[in-house]
Amino acid sequence: MHDFRYVGHKLYCEGVAVATLAKTFGTPLYVYSQRTLTNHFQKLDRAMAPVEHLICFAMKSNSNQSVLRTIANLGGGFDIVSSGELQRAIAAGGDPGKCVFAGVGKTEAEIEFALRRGVYSFNAESEPELRRINQVAARLKKIAPVAVRVNPNVDAHTHAKITTGTYENKFGIAFEQIEGVYARASKLKHLRLRGLQMHIGSQLTTVAPFDQAVRKVIPILQRLQRRHGLEFFSIGGGLGIVYQPALASSAAAWWQKAGKNILTPEKYAARLVPLLQPLGLRILMEPGRFISGNAGLLVTRVEYVKRTGKKNFVIVDGAMNDLIRPAFYDAYHEIVPLVRKGGARIASDVVGPVCESGDYFCKNRPLPRVGEGDYLALLSAGAYGSVMASTYNTRALVAEVLVNGRQSAIVRERQPVTKIWAGEKLAPWFQ
Ligand SMILES: *Cc1c(COP(=O)(O)O)cnc(C)c1O
Repeated sequence: MHDFRYVGHKLYCEGVAVATLAKTFGTPLYVYSQRTLTNHFQKLDRAMAPVEHLICFAMKSNSNQSVLRTIANLGGGFDIVSSGELQRAIAAGGDPGKCVFAGVGKTEAEIEFALRRGVYSFNAESEPELRRINQVAARLKKIAPVAVRVNPNVDAHTHAKITTGTYENKFGIAFEQIEGVYARASKLKHLRLRGLQMHIGSQLTTVAPFDQAVRKVIPILQRLQRRHGLEFFSIGGGLGIVYQPALASSAAAWWQKAGKNILTPEKYAARLVPLLQPLGLRILMEPGRFISGNAGLLVTRVEYVKRTGKKNFVIVDGAMNDLIRPAFYDAYHEIVPLVRKGGARIASDVVGPVCESGDYFCKNRPLPRVGEGDYLALLSAGAYGSVMASTYNTRALVAEVLVNGRQSAIVRERQPVTKIWAGEKLAPWFQ
């Protein structure tokens, strides 16, 4: 599942003790495992081997250059959501011809940039966008490859902030309108209708919603294929991961109860390949979290332990600005010490120094007793972690390390604090 495990009492990432990294590079610190990234990519790649396919890693989940290079070297492309992401992917050695451009708000400048660089497809989300892509392509005397994002209106049964495939959401074009949209788009001379795309949500933990959406879309897809000669069908991302305990002492019990229900690439493929194979289309996938989520952790250092009448607060040097998922999505991250401890557990709130009540990583969770200077790791922080970080409270963006076997390297330097306000200026009337 991932390459973070205890060897003796020490937590390792592959062949490197995480505490050594924390001491060398300081905290808070993101640590990524190259082997885990690779394994996850290859598991999905192998499971989907019976259909011609391309995995476009959703780089919004983790866009560190070394992470992107890992994926590019495995033959992967990228699901991008801005021209900034396309520039990043190219800078990391990614092939624009394997990039798909998603998002509801593509600007003219972004469309032009992507068109000049030759993206595989624009995944359009509205008719005004299709008209705009057509106009930009006409001006550049190009033909733009496009797919339309269909909203299949199925409930992905996930957190409201990461549900995208129902009519409550801003994404895609309603299932009932999609054929009319393709008919009108086919009259726009600078578009080439290359595919159909969908993405119903994130952190899906069963295959049922994928299966339901694919079955719902296939009849329309086949008609579009006949009329417009589509080449590909993108089934989006959204494969969920396990955030539940993997290393804690309670892990064995959890796995025994729930482990068999985990959504694996094998289960995903077993249900979807028989539906997709007869289409004869190229299948695109846009997994983000599945590849990067369990490939990273955030290391933080205990600064203080504060016992109030009611609570045991463990105050750490990491905060919501470094990892916002608990505050934003009510997300669970397993928290373990870098040096395993025995003894009784104590219900604790792990909180950061930011001046917000929402700045917590867990509440009332039984944790080993820790003290000042101990290190804790927040697991499964490789997706939607560092990419969502901010400098709120003028806290610098933290460093990132990539581990590969016994090697480790800084893949993003800790931001010097003065860089945070480097672009700011005093208004002239203060001078
Ligand atoms: C965010 C996103 C993804 C990736 O979602 P995950 O849950 O990380 O797999 C894929 N496709 C689109 C269009 C997205 O917006």
